[in-house]
Amino acid sequence: MQKLFILFFLLLSTGMQSQSLLIPDRVFDGENLFANWIVIVNDNYIDYAGPLNGNPIKTTKDTIYLKGTTLMPGIIEGHSHLLLHPYNETSWNDQVLKESSAERAIRGAVYAKKSLLAGITTMRDLGAEGAGYTDVYLKKTIDEGIIPGPRLLVAGPAIVATGAYGPKGFHEGVKVPLGAETVSGIDEAIRTVRRQIGNGSDFIKVYADYRWKTGEPAQPTFLQNELEVMVATAETAGRYVVAHASTPEGMRRAVLAGVETIEHGDSGTLKEFNLMKENNVAFCPTLAAGEAVEQYNGWIKGKGPVPKRIIQKKATFKEALQSGVEILFGGDVGVFSHGENYREMELMVEYGMTPLAVLQSATSINARVFHLNGLGRIRKGFLADIIAVQGDPTKDISAIKSVKFVMKDGEVYLADK
Ligand SMILES: [Zn+2]
Repeated sequence: MQKLFILFFLLLSTGMQSQSLLIPDRVFDGENLFANWIVIVNDNYIDYAGPLNGNPIKTTKDTIYLKGTTLMPGIIEGHSHLLLHPYNETSWNDQVLKESSAERAIRGAVYAKKSLLAGITTMRDLGAEGAGYTDVYLKKTIDEGIIPGPRLLVAGPAIVATGAYGPKGFHEGVKVPLGAETVSGIDEAIRTVRRQIGNGSDFIKVYADYRWKTGEPAQPTFLQNELEVMVATAETAGRYVVAHASTPEGMRRAVLAGVETIEHGDSGTLKEFNLMKENNVAFCPTLAAGEAVEQYNGWIKGKGPVPKRIIQKKATFKEALQSGVEILFGGDVGVFSHGENYREMELMVEYGMTPLAVLQSATSINARVFHLNGLGRIRKGFLADIIAVQGDPTKDISAIKSVKFVMKDGEVYLADK
């Protein structure tokens, strides 16, 4: 209902120079919280962020009052799938097998807008899951201003070992579209990484482990030299590799091969997290996906007994925190509803982080780990990706749900009436 009182307006790029003065109650600059700060935006960059007293305002014609809010950098979602939607609506198998790339692109366009209005101004999208390079074209249409959406970093198809991905359960005579691209051997690994980069992948996603048969626990997939050669090929092209890994051995191989981030890490132990820390590999825990899947399986949070998988994930997350590994904000949104990215932040707090640390993770830390210079901070010279939320999310992380203002690249997409 609240949305009735909010005015959405999409501004067309006019090419005219514009300046706005933003006056919130407080500013989280990507690192710390400051009271009585103001922010001045010139065109698409931040020209001033600091105390009201002695600020250099001269020609401001557009003042935006954001009373009661905390202004902060646009949120950087670290693990999304814009081309998937919640599995309790349609199973992953049926999305891959029955929804065409056209349908998935149209859905993706709707989810991109939803995400932006929820304060997500950048997304690292972790695989088109059977929709080829649809993510590359979703990104292109956003960049060209055809549809509103976050800045995207896209993987294209993830790379999996031959035989190690779904949909599964068909006999060998049935031709099934896979949710990723298969690779075996050094030559094919090199060729596939090169082809993907040529086709528009911003980075390479590999599966370092996966279940080989439905219902089985995950096992490592790629050999060490296959992983190493994919990293070397990507790095030669100025790209990087991220790894899905949930087993200790899968995580270990991926870290030693030189990937930059590990996704999920469900069965990781202090040993693997220490190794990640030593090798400067960041950890994206995707807590919200795990909770969503358990709830789709019948768990009623707060009522039924806590599922084993959740108990284990909480213990794992504590060990990750103990190791000091860099923690990324990324919930695997798409497994659950787009626009509800905040679920991951609430769980990061529930599982043991402070709200301030979670906010740093979702802004300045994700920006640094994803090589996004000029994003993730409210600071002079940075790009004007700015949001404001009602209340103070450094005290109560749930304030992050009440997004009142969204600016991306200097353009306002959501503002209070
Ligand atoms: Zn994912």
